[in-house]
Formats: sequence, C-alpha cells, structure tokens
Amino acid sequence: MNDDTLTIAVSKGRILKEAAPLLAHAGIELRDDPDTTRKLILDTSEPDVKVVIIRATDVPTYVQYGAADVGVAGKDVLMEHGGEGLYEPLDLGIARCRLMVAGRPGAVPGHRRLRVATKYIESTRRYYADQGRQVELIKLYGSMELAPLVGLADLIVDLVDTGNTLRANGLEPLEHIADISSRLIVNKAAMKMKHDRITDFITRLREAVKAREAA
Ligand code: AMP
Repeated sequence: MNDDTLTIAVSKGRILKEAAPLLAHAGIELRDDPDTTRKLILDTSEPDVKVVIIRATDVPTYVQYGAADVGVAGKDVLMEHGGEGLYEPLDLGIARCRLMVAGRPGAVPGHRRLRVATKYIESTRRYYADQGRQVELIKLYGSMELAPLVGLADLIVDLVDTGNTLRANGLEPLEHIADISSRLIVNKAAMKMKHDRITDFITRLREAVKAREAA
C-alpha cells in the first residue's frame, strides 16, 4: 500500500470488537460501524490510517506480503501460518482462549493409532511429534465437536473458552496445548521503511493494553 498510509489488517467479529477500543485508546477511531458496513477498507479518525477487514486466517498472509503494514491475529492462526516475514512485537491480551485436545470421557481405543480431527493441523502435528506420539490427523474446517460423536475421530484439537461447546456435545477438555490471545504483527519490510510511524503505533498500543489490563 501507499507509503504515507498505515494499513491495519483485522478480522471481523470478536477480534475487531476487542481491538477497536485499544485502537481508539491509541488515537485511531473507526469512522464506519464494522457491524453494519459492507466496506472492506474502513476509514479512521486519522486520514492516513486505514483498517482492512480480512478473514482471520488470511491476516498473516496480507501482512507477510506487505498488503497491510500491521495486523491483529490470533496466536492460533500465527502458529498455523508459521510467522514468516512477520514481527510479533505485542500481545494484545484480547480474544483469550486455550488450544486443547478434547474427547469423550474415557473413550480412547487401545488397538489402533489415535485419529485426531482439527483445523489446526500444524500445531497438532507439532504437539504430538514433540511427545513422540504417532497420531493420524484429519483436517476439518469447522464443527470439530461432531467428529468424535459420529466416529470420524477419537479426539479433536480446538479452541476452548468457557468449555460450554464441549460440554454441550458430551466432550471434555483433556490436554492443554497453548494459551491463545491476539497479537500485533508487523511486516518486516514496513518496520524498516516506516520505522518511526510503526514504533510510535506500537508504543501507543502498548499503553492501551496496559491501561486495559489495569482497569
Ligand atoms: P466455548 O464454548 O466458550 O469454550 O467456546 C468454544 C467455541 O468458540 C469453539 O467453537 C471455538 O472455536 C470458539 N472460540 C473460543 N474462543 C475463541 C477465540 N478466542 N477466537 C476464535 N474462536 C474462539
């Protein structure tokens, strides 16, 4: 994007809802209502700052290629992406949850390799490989909780917040893989080219995070 503009990539939903007050505290107020607008490039109170609305899993890709200078991405998404071409200077402490292994209580077969269904293939592969456990991974794109109920998989790996979704489906959290929250990510080239601008943005955002955590 334009050299004079700071472009921030954010996904709609929980992350934008929780990131918007932090951005406002850092002096960047959204001019459009993200709940109602169909625009994908939102104006802000700062004429040279734009917010682009992107699917959560695409945020690291836009920032990696410099189509956005900075972005807000869940640690779950970053663990899958790998973080190439990105700095991750700040934990925003928002959209907190845990990446967990879950399954039916006591239902683990002894006679064959465990089947684990997840959309977090890379994180799950790494988790089991680090423990020297061999599992068969099944890639899903949603409704992971269904997989153990219909015999597609023995276990799932998914995000857990309150645990209500698991409980409602007769599943329980079994193993903790990682604590998740949203992070500020920065394109490595933009960090050089727009150094003062971006470091000032990080400083203001860090203050916003501190103020939120102190409240
Ligand atoms: P819960 O029922 O509160 O444990 O929430 C679990 C459901 O919400 C699962 O479908 C998760 O994929 C989703 N979820 C929970 N926390 C987050 C988060 N921080 N970001 C994205 N999805 C989440």
